[in-house]
Amino acid sequence: MAQALLIVCDGLGDLPSKNGKTPLQAAKKPNIDRLAKKGATGLLYTISPGIIPGSDTSHLALFGYEPEKFYPGRGPLEALGIGIELRDGDIAFRSNFATVDKDMNIIDRRAGRIEEGADELAKLIDGKEIDTVKIILKHSTQHRCALILRGDGLSANITDVDPHGAGKVLKSEPIDSTPEARKTSKVLNDFTKLSYDILSKAEINTRREREGKLPANIILSRGAGAYRRIQPFKERHGFSAACIAGGALYKGVAKYVGMDVIEVKGAIGTFNTDLSAKAKAVLEAFKTHEFVFLHIKGTDNAGHDGDFDGKVAMIEKIDAMIGDLTPKLPEGTYIILTGDHSTPISLKRHSSDPTPILIYGKNVRVDDVEKFDEISCARGSLGHLRGIELMPIIKDKMGHAHVYGS
Ligand code: ZN
Ligand code: ZN
Repeated sequence: MAQALLIVCDGLGDLPSKNGKTPLQAAKKPNIDRLAKKGATGLLYTISPGIIPGSDTSHLALFGYEPEKFYPGRGPLEALGIGIELRDGDIAFRSNFATVDKDMNIIDRRAGRIEEGADELAKLIDGKEIDTVKIILKHSTQHRCALILRGDGLSANITDVDPHGAGKVLKSEPIDSTPEARKTSKVLNDFTKLSYDILSKAEINTRREREGKLPANIILSRGAGAYRRIQPFKERHGFSAACIAGGALYKGVAKYVGMDVIEVKGAIGTFNTDLSAKAKAVLEAFKTHEFVFLHIKGTDNAGHDGDFDGKVAMIEKIDAMIGDLTPKLPEGTYIILTGDHSTPISLKRHSSDPTPILIYGKNVRVDDVEKFDEISCARGSLGHLRGIELMPIIKDKMGHAHVYGS
């Protein structure tokens, strides 16, 4: 059986902008173009035409899990990504340290982007209980943290307390009339108040105020999602998988589907990520896994910033890494290169435009496409695929498919 490397460059696809070119068309990327020339190419709608993918739903589809069936919401995925072990029935939120006045008016949703002391502040609340529901609160980066409510009879069908902008802290309301939703929104409201009571008295905050900084005196939560265990990757596809990524969300999706998440020092999910450390980790992962997922975030960041040259530079950096990595991969390894959606420079947000894809390896239908970009790949032999169709194709190439019928 062959091995396969899936490289996902986040937000890779684009629209023509500077000099009428897309960043992929403008970038000098001889190594990637060589793979496209010797491989099969096409375009990929990670969800389906006209749908604007989130990074979480699109990765689920790429891994062969229908997002409409398996998407648990962003909260559980972020929590898994920062290393929290979840149990069936846990309700997870994305939360922020924020600053409010005593009337619950929000002064700063990010508490001055607090970083120092945030671990300690989270620990003051972590482990508390409200109505027999256990509170788990872990700091991740800057002002961000993950909140888990663990207990019987909880529901994710509740509204946020975070107003997502200026204004007052909101009261969470049940979205349906079940006792579970009523209970969970009450616990979340009580938790929010408790966080204010504890944090506004915390020594770290008194010190911050003395230093002229905003106190991180409340936790605002959003994006409730219920966790349940799903069929693991190996059982679903027949081979083991490893994930190499910097961003918590991607590690979270990988963990959720049962991949082994390999921590790489220097993989930080930005332009300055250490790509050679990630490439080394890929080679290491292939010693024990048949399938390796490598995620690179910098292309999406440049798209959101509307930074054409930055996206080109990131693509060229990825190209150099691929040129270095390809000859070192185990003999016969398939390389699949694509994005999880487009993040066009001109829009500074995700778009529904499909992303180019290439599959390089033995017995692929090599087409006459010689460049890896949005326009060239439109005439490739893979045609226009949906994200959920990718894993069956990879599985077949790797030798794990069976004849349908006889
Ligand atoms: Zn993305
Ligand atoms: Zn994005």
